[in-house]
Amino acid sequence: MRKYIEELSGKVLRKEPVSKEEAIRLLDLDKSGLFYLFASANNIRQYFRGNKVSLCAITNAKSGNCSEDCKFCAQSARHNTNIEIYPLLTPEEMFKRAKAAYQAGAHRFCFVTSGAKLSDAELVNLCLGISRIKKEFPLLKLDSSLGKIDLMRAKKLKDAGLDRYNHNIETHPDFFSKICTTHSFSDRLATIEILKKAGLEVCSGGIFGMGETNQQRVEFAFILKDLDVDSVALNFLNPVSGTGLGKAATLPALEILKIVAVLRFILPEKELRLCGGRQKNLRQLQALAFVSGIDAAITGDYLTTKGSPYQDDLEMLSDLGFSL
Ligand code: SF4
Repeated sequence: MRKYIEELSGKVLRKEPVSKEEAIRLLDLDKSGLFYLFASANNIRQYFRGNKVSLCAITNAKSGNCSEDCKFCAQSARHNTNIEIYPLLTPEEMFKRAKAAYQAGAHRFCFVTSGAKLSDAELVNLCLGISRIKKEFPLLKLDSSLGKIDLMRAKKLKDAGLDRYNHNIETHPDFFSKICTTHSFSDRLATIEILKKAGLEVCSGGIFGMGETNQQRVEFAFILKDLDVDSVALNFLNPVSGTGLGKAATLPALEILKIVAVLRFILPEKELRLCGGRQKNLRQLQALAFVSGIDAAITGDYLTTKGSPYQDDLEMLSDLGFSL
């Protein structure tokens, strides 16, 4: 197996793409050769992405009461969870949160809102917040994840100073309807097209560990490759009690690292961002993700669950020899 990993890694380093079949074989690897796979993915990451890790802090800018039924989500009104519910933050509060993240060392700051889409009045307030932050902290990259959006609104956000928009495709298209029934996989693809037309950078990805197969994981990664998004968000299910997946089993840590490494083989030049589920699923192995292909992460708390303090992430990455 070592020889096979070596062959494929040589191919990737020569800028030749791996095929779906080759990637599935890698993902089907048993434990022997696993750490060699991680080291090879790390080598690919270093070759194509250098030695920097991008840290993004996110904030729940509007929480709960969502009309959609995404099975994994604590913010759906159809789920019985104990989350805090509140309307869109004021521009002043947005500014305060972005300032705190910037001063703590985040490179990017992302406003995430619950719900299928924002109202016109909410969009105006968000644009006010974004333009003030951008004026005050031009080096801080600003992102948003606001659900469905039309071209005019996406352009307004860009004009206000937004750099990037996150819209996850969540999972394999054949599996999507098992996870969400209130909108479709193609709705999500259509939104990504609009974002690109508006000239925004796009971050997209999904959640692993919802019951999909290895083949679906690989095909999902190839869809992201075809979409040619700027950043790929990798979440690993953190089952929240009261949601449709509240009782699901989590993925073993080594399985997660294997998925990360194989995605680095498929998407050698892309930013691979480790997002939700890192602390819950990787536990003491978190640092290994950054030497198995990851070059970006969410730092600080998530939308409804705890993450890692910025300082801990900065320390871990500096100990691993990354430049920040
Ligand atoms: S993931 Fe987004 S759209 Fe789906 S239920 Fe949660 S907040 Fe709503």
